[in-house]
Amino acid sequence: MKASDISDKLILRIIHDQCVQRQLWAHLRDIQNALPKFPVRVVLAKLRQLVRRRLVNGCGCGCRGDFEIESAACAALGVQPWREPWWKNPNYEIKGPLT
Ligand SMILES: [Zn+2]
Repeated sequence: MKASDISDKLILRIIHDQCVQRQLWAHLRDIQNALPKFPVRVVLAKLRQLVRRRLVNGCGCGCRGDFEIESAACAALGVQPWREPWWKNPNYEIKGPLT
């Protein structure tokens, strides 16, 4: 059982849906729960590949376990980006003055 046994589209969709649901990055544990046939080391290896291919943002060493799908990957998948980048959000404002 190896990373390439997990299809790009399947895992990207899982990450996307979890990011949309949480409005926050997806966690390795939740991604793995959605792929119960695969051990966590295989899921993590797949995530590392996706990070290298710039489809997913996160650290593949497993230190924090947070992963988010990149906008370009959402476009390739044919889904909406899970959040607008802050620099494109006209309502984005910092809270309070700098001291
Ligand atoms: Zn790390």
